[in-house]
Amino acid sequence: MSKAASVRSCAVSVDAFRCNACGACVEMAPEHFFLDPATGKAQEAASPAPCTLELEQAAAFCPRKCISVEEAG
Ligand code: SF4
Repeated sequence: MSKAASVRSCAVSVDAFRCNACGACVEMAPEHFFLDPATGKAQEAASPAPCTLELEQAAAFCPRKCISVEEAG
């Protein structure tokens, strides 16, 4: 039995205008997001980035729905 373990790549972006700086995405996916010390708003750590479960969960949980995650291939 083989694992089809090709890591998908996702384009990640945060709409800083809509972000309310709650920090939930940073708590849920600290490898993908950080809070900009200057603005307090979330930013993506890297894009494209591996499409992890944590990334998808953080995007789904964001109360402002301002995280965009699109599979980049
Ligand atoms: S969860 Fe959404 S609203 Fe909260 S800090 Fe992250 S991007 Fe901003």
